[in-house]
Amino acid sequence: KQPESHILVIFGASGDLTKRKLIPALYELHTQNLLPEKLAVLGVARTKLTDLEFRENMKEFLPDQQHTQKDIDAFLEHLYYQPLSTADAVDYPILKKRLELLSKELSIPENYIFYLSTPPNLYEIIPQSLAEVGLNEPVSGYKRLIIEKPFGTDLKSAKELNKNLLNYFNEDQLYRIDHYLGKETVQNMLVTRFSNGIFEPIWNRNFIHHVEITSAETLGVEDRGGYYDHSGAMRDMVQNHLMQLVGLVAMEPPVVIEADAIRNETLKVFQSLRPITEAEVAKNVIRGQYIRSNHGKEPVIGYREEHGVDPLSKTETYLAMKFFIDNFRWAGVPFYIRTGKKLPARVTEVVIHFKNTPHHLFGNTDNADAINNQLVLRIQPDEGILLKIGMKVPGAGFHVQTVNMDFHYSELSDVYLPSAYGRLLLDCMQGDATLYSRGDAVEKAWEFVQPILNAWQNNPEIPVYGYPAGTWGPEVVDDLMEEGMWRYPCKNLSHDGEYC
Ligand code: NAP
Repeated sequence: KQPESHILVIFGASGDLTKRKLIPALYELHTQNLLPEKLAVLGVARTKLTDLEFRENMKEFLPDQQHTQKDIDAFLEHLYYQPLSTADAVDYPILKKRLELLSKELSIPENYIFYLSTPPNLYEIIPQSLAEVGLNEPVSGYKRLIIEKPFGTDLKSAKELNKNLLNYFNEDQLYRIDHYLGKETVQNMLVTRFSNGIFEPIWNRNFIHHVEITSAETLGVEDRGGYYDHSGAMRDMVQNHLMQLVGLVAMEPPVVIEADAIRNETLKVFQSLRPITEAEVAKNVIRGQYIRSNHGKEPVIGYREEHGVDPLSKTETYLAMKFFIDNFRWAGVPFYIRTGKKLPARVTEVVIHFKNTPHHLFGNTDNADAINNQLVLRIQPDEGILLKIGMKVPGAGFHVQTVNMDFHYSELSDVYLPSAYGRLLLDCMQGDATLYSRGDAVEKAWEFVQPILNAWQNNPEIPVYGYPAGTWGPEVVDDLMEEGMWRYPCKNLSHDGEYC
């Protein structure tokens, strides 16, 4: 359904996220005719700009597609700008006035979405200042608040942030963004699991040996060293994105496909995570940092030499961990997570490793994969699904080899695949919070990772293993997996990081 007409207020509109993600996503929705009949996008930041200057600035960030000037102009007409001292509550009456004027001028009901695309230290003052001028009250129109990551830097700050937000807004007005949930292939995990009669009966401890989730990047910290050094892989990737994947892989079937039903099931998964105590961290969680090395012909600087990074930093650019979900479905099934920067391929995938047949009839197989079925849910790049099964090699005897049943989303080339931000913005416009994180689940995920962060903080002797750029991380990671091996890409890895 088409969203109701509204005004989308972007705080931090002079920043990087607005131009690189939000404006392109809105343009994409415009070209797909998915925007409401009437929409104003009001950029807000301290930088002094006029509406026209803001439109001109944003123009160059529209995706490079073949669109007519008319299309572009029609989109840019939605954009407005209001300079504001965002951290200064006394300025908010100006914002209120501007919103009232825009509503009146464009005949838009007072439906407002506020998008916090600012540094996180403003996530408290902005909601509070909005509330002080009544912009939190869902009277004569809805009032919604989208909060960007990071949602807290530890359990304590996440709880404080939730508490503060709930002082001014109700939970059903809050949309905590996790752009991973906006990815088509992440959502497809629900469809794969719950629309196919063949998967759900075997999606449990009786048939699954272990679950492996990998999110690898080829890039290093680039120009974000200063930010990353206070974050690291646990905060940047695991606590939010990868835990959300765990939630979707491990959840029970929701009663209905609705926000709270799905989020209730995610929460239960997080409640069932077996805590990793501080004493168990060194054995179950491996952290690493890329070190100075020669990647191909290119010399690559180490993480500690990156601009903005402390030369003695212990911030992890790589993390691998093993954990368990203590419930009926998953008792005894190890889950493995691996993520890192400067790895050989850019790939995010979930791999379900099934148990072997109880008896090996074809003893002549020399390929362990042939009897270890894997279902690979590829999230990026080359989105799709791959099932590895054993087949007979033609000819004499019963030689077994692994073959791939492979589906690529790119084969559906005529189908429009929305960007993650496009999908999430549209959902919020429609009042659907299914793909946004709920406060209780965010806190539970923090509860799980906090003892690991504490252990690293309190025990500097826990090693930070170095790994040369372009490798799959520290070798010691192999010790985490008792049986089976990490899934590695083919040796003849293609340039776009194809995984086989
Ligand atoms: P940014 O460029 O650092 O900041 C956005 C805007 O906030 C700036 O243009 C600035 O505008 C305003 N701002 C900065 N410091 C301020 C201060 N002390 N007081 C008031 N306003 C201030 O951030 P971003 O990269 O766009 O990211 C926005 C948020 O999204 C961050 O929380 C980030 O963690 C999150 N995020 C970003 C990305 C990304 O790809 N960039 C990805 C995921 C999440 P004025 O100076 O004009 O006021």
